[in-house]
Amino acid sequence: MGLLLTYKCPAACTFCYYKCGPEKGGLMSIETAIAAWRGLKTLAGESAKIHITGGEPFLYFEHLAKLLEKAAKLGLGTVDMVETNGFWADKKNDIVEKLKFLDAHNVKKLKISYDPFHAEFVPYNKVKLLYETACEVLGPQRVLVRWQEYLEKDLSVKNCSEDEKTVLFADSLKNHPCRFTGRAAEKLTQLFANKEVEKIAKQVCQKSFLAAKGIHIDPYGNIFSGVCSGIIIGNINEKPLEEIWRDFNPTKKEVLNVLFNEGPAGLLEKAIKQGYQKSRLYSGKCHLCTALRQFFFDKGQLLQIIGPEDCYI
Ligand code: SF4
Ligand code: SF4
Repeated sequence: MGLLLTYKCPAACTFCYYKCGPEKGGLMSIETAIAAWRGLKTLAGESAKIHITGGEPFLYFEHLAKLLEKAAKLGLGTVDMVETNGFWADKKNDIVEKLKFLDAHNVKKLKISYDPFHAEFVPYNKVKLLYETACEVLGPQRVLVRWQEYLEKDLSVKNCSEDEKTVLFADSLKNHPCRFTGRAAEKLTQLFANKEVEKIAKQVCQKSFLAAKGIHIDPYGNIFSGVCSGIIIGNINEKPLEEIWRDFNPTKKEVLNVLFNEGPAGLLEKAIKQGYQKSRLYSGKCHLCTALRQFFFDKGQLLQIIGPEDCYI
């Protein structure tokens, strides 16, 4: 389970599934985070794996620290990893202090997100300093960089022209494919749109829901399955996670039933009737799904499932 502490982020990566950025908000309350964590422990016992992410969790380090202290007090066990883009890593003594705190509060790994998308916003020297310091404090086996190869040299993405960035982004996605949801379904899809709807039409989402490796919970308690960002399957502020899990039946819920049984192409007719302009090509089912959900969101429809607005504006 990934806890999205906030949608706020100093970066606004072109491939962000959640469309995070500096203008976004939300901060998961300690109560919501603990309720989700406890719920997962009840459901999965020792197999429960928690990671804390965002947005950028280090924007609210004091809040994160309070959450970790509370979880430790309650004996909720370890946090598999805390993710960061490293924007905050200016001073070595500050980095050491924060990492020691994480280490003393049951955090197993630090995950540093760094690739051409992040490099557009976060300076290389900060990420490098964070990586090297984290290796000293936690040991290299407890530091993950996604992706390590980009630490080798500064790509100076910030100074690249739009065309040069496009080449770097396309190259990165060829080596490390992403799902075209959220912001990834905007500019980037132009590079990879090569499938007609008829080809996508056969792709249903049963496995995506039932065989997802985990869930994400956003700052407002909304639950997303796997990386299907912006598709709300429940809210832990309304019902405990255990109950949502027990009652989850995608065939019985508006929109989810269509995605489950027919895939996103099942929503096309309803959208076209209301003026949706079908593209000739899509990069895949998630691109089509995101485009259709955006259309319904803009029309103010199906908002029980299609939301929250942070994922669509
Ligand atoms: S991908 Fe990560 S670093 Fe980039 S905008 Fe999204 S949350 Fe922020
Ligand atoms: S098409 Fe939609 S529901 Fe299916 S896996 Fe992609 S984002 Fe999730």
